[in-house]
Amino acid sequence: MKILAVNCGSSSLKFKMYEMPEEKVLISGLFERIGEKMSSYTIKLDDDKYSKEIVLPDHKVAFEILVEELKKNKIIKKLDEIKGIGHRIVQGGDYFDKTVIADDDAVSKISELATLAPLHNKAAVTGINAAKEVIPGAMETVTFDTAFHQTIEPVNYMYAVPYEWYTKYKVRKYGAHGTSHKYIASRLNSLLGRTNTKLITCHIGSGASVSAIRDGICVDTSMGLTPNAGLIMGTRCGDVDTSILTYMMQKENITPKEMDNILNKKSGLLGISGVSNDSRDIEEGISKGNERCVLAQKMYVQKIIDYIAMYYFEMGGVDAIAFSAGVGENSIRTRIDIMEGLSVLGVIPDYEANNCRGEEKLVTTTESKVPCYIIPTDEEIMIARDNYNLAK
Ligand code: AMP
Repeated sequence: MKILAVNCGSSSLKFKMYEMPEEKVLISGLFERIGEKMSSYTIKLDDDKYSKEIVLPDHKVAFEILVEELKKNKIIKKLDEIKGIGHRIVQGGDYFDKTVIADDDAVSKISELATLAPLHNKAAVTGINAAKEVIPGAMETVTFDTAFHQTIEPVNYMYAVPYEWYTKYKVRKYGAHGTSHKYIASRLNSLLGRTNTKLITCHIGSGASVSAIRDGICVDTSMGLTPNAGLIMGTRCGDVDTSILTYMMQKENITPKEMDNILNKKSGLLGISGVSNDSRDIEEGISKGNERCVLAQKMYVQKIIDYIAMYYFEMGGVDAIAFSAGVGENSIRTRIDIMEGLSVLGVIPDYEANNCRGEEKLVTTTESKVPCYIIPTDEEIMIARDNYNLAK
């Protein structure tokens, strides 16, 4: 059965097609700058990768080209071979604790939740409607970044602000990256050979979050009402003293919209270092003796350690820790800095094993009290699996 996992952004469409239940990737690709003067797309096959420049006025045209490419590359002969389309949705609020069929009710709730994730949820609805028009026979499902975190208890999801903000405006922690944390936890449980586990999963990429997962169920996560909470990220500030915002808005006459932009796009590693949001550039800066890059890395790592320590206490221990996403999978130095910072928990890094990128691997020694693993994440396979399981 052929299933497409798609992730629609406001000007992009990322996809991966699987043969299910074998979970074989048949083709993947990315459409970019949709709606702009000139757009482009890239297609990746087993042994081939190519890009094209083309005008893509909207997501519907992108889906039409996608179908043409599937036929051209002999992935499908006829449209009705595409049995399912699973969409990634950023914000599911407290409506969704699992993947569901993208019926009218689900789509209207996703639209309603656009107040919490304006760019993402609007784009996702555009993608759902476009896919329906172009591939009407496929069963569409929606998989939410927030769903895995719906098991978090009020003590961890409420903010100490007026309670009416919650009842009137749904102000609470929803988290994000849930599909990734769920995947990482299931891999860790397979590696540990049991499911009654206490896990801390670090999804650290350009966006970054940590989750505490007990017996496969999410207990807490570091992102909040929006993704700009918790860890320091590429361009997001994460946790800050909220009074800074009103103070700076008055000092520099900054509007709420501008402040939102500063906190999401000009802060984090970029804001501290003044160099880049990319940890590769920060590491290069450190090697050249750039003091602000040194500080950015120290702050970045410290925040991750703080959250791991907090979740260690929240769960009363930890059986394994995982590093995932762009930085977690690839930054040898960041993993070492974190593991060395966890020596109080008895974590002992295996420097040789850690000297790798993007492999699923144990990176602590056999004497380490808490094993740490690199787990390359795979959100698309989770989306495809859920779609397949609902279609079966
Ligand atoms: P993601 O959002 O998961 O795609 O992660 C993207 C981020 O991963 C980049 O902005 C970099 O900070 C980081 N990254 C990717 N490759 C490397 C690498 N080889 N070494 C260090 N960091 C990396």
